[in-house]
Amino acid sequence: ATPTAIMVGIGKGAESNILIKDAESLELGHKVTAVILDKTGTITEGKPTITNFSWENNANQDELSSVLMSIEAKSEHPLAGAIVKKFKEMGTTPVDLINFESITGKGVEATDFKGQKFYVGNLKLIQNKNITLNEALITKAKLWQEEAKTVIFFASDKQVYAVIAIADKIKSSSKHAIKKLINKGIKVYMLTGDNNQTAKAVAKEVGLTNYKGEVLPSDKADFVKNLQTQGQIVAMVGDGINDSQALAQADVSIAMGHGSDIAIDVAKITLITSDLESIPKALSLSSLTVRGIR
Ligand code: ADP
Ligand code: MG
Repeated sequence: ATPTAIMVGIGKGAESNILIKDAESLELGHKVTAVILDKTGTITEGKPTITNFSWENNANQDELSSVLMSIEAKSEHPLAGAIVKKFKEMGTTPVDLINFESITGKGVEATDFKGQKFYVGNLKLIQNKNITLNEALITKAKLWQEEAKTVIFFASDKQVYAVIAIADKIKSSSKHAIKKLINKGIKVYMLTGDNNQTAKAVAKEVGLTNYKGEVLPSDKADFVKNLQTQGQIVAMVGDGINDSQALAQADVSIAMGHGSDIAIDVAKITLITSDLESIPKALSLSSLTVRGIR
């Protein structure tokens, strides 16, 4: 494309709330054969709220609520935000913690002032630490996951105390935007750190057959690389720190405007609105630019 066409393309993009940082993305966009979408914050609104909460019978709820809230207050994960909000509303008082650590892809751990270790995270974390989980809670967890909710567990190093279901609404634009991409002949994939059951339920709701759950940030980048090795031109769309490696690896990188600074820094295109229709629009803009719009 001529420098003038590029300038026009970037200008048209801006009018549609699509900020394009470089000419290369604009020129490559129309060649994209595969689009990878992150789930949380990209396909979904990224505003999780608690829908179900179940305590184990023997749990001292007052004391444990304080611990759970205080742990999640130290985490930057959107799921943590939903939990903190709920307990704040209930007037739960925070407690001091010693030690707080994130466990990549699984959750967080912390120790309270009595020296008791606690964990908050997914089933993998619970299994990994060999923490006891009773059948009744597993049954609940499975049911909620089938409803496309994310299930997390709160436990000491010995037993699970609570199971929490968190739902994140699918954006109203997701299904239609994905259909548009598929109709263009593009392969569309969804990747998420969330568990496979939840991934499956969300994928089904938006009409996707290609999806993968329980992926680590580095897995997302490897997934991109693998498609590239097969000759695909890959666009990655994401909003989180956990998407930044994959964004850096992709041929065309698209960040959601509400996303983390790192994702926006790495990506060459930023979507100001969270509307997923901007993705097919950005790719069409590229075709127009290369053909020389005026
Ligand atoms: P993603 O945000 O794409 O799900 P992450 O690697 O950030 O990927 O997290 C993977 C999983 O680990 C989450 O889906 C959740 O189950 C669990 N997790 C991470 N951080 C927390 C937290 N602060 N509280 C509860 N669960 C968490
Ligand atoms: Mg995300």
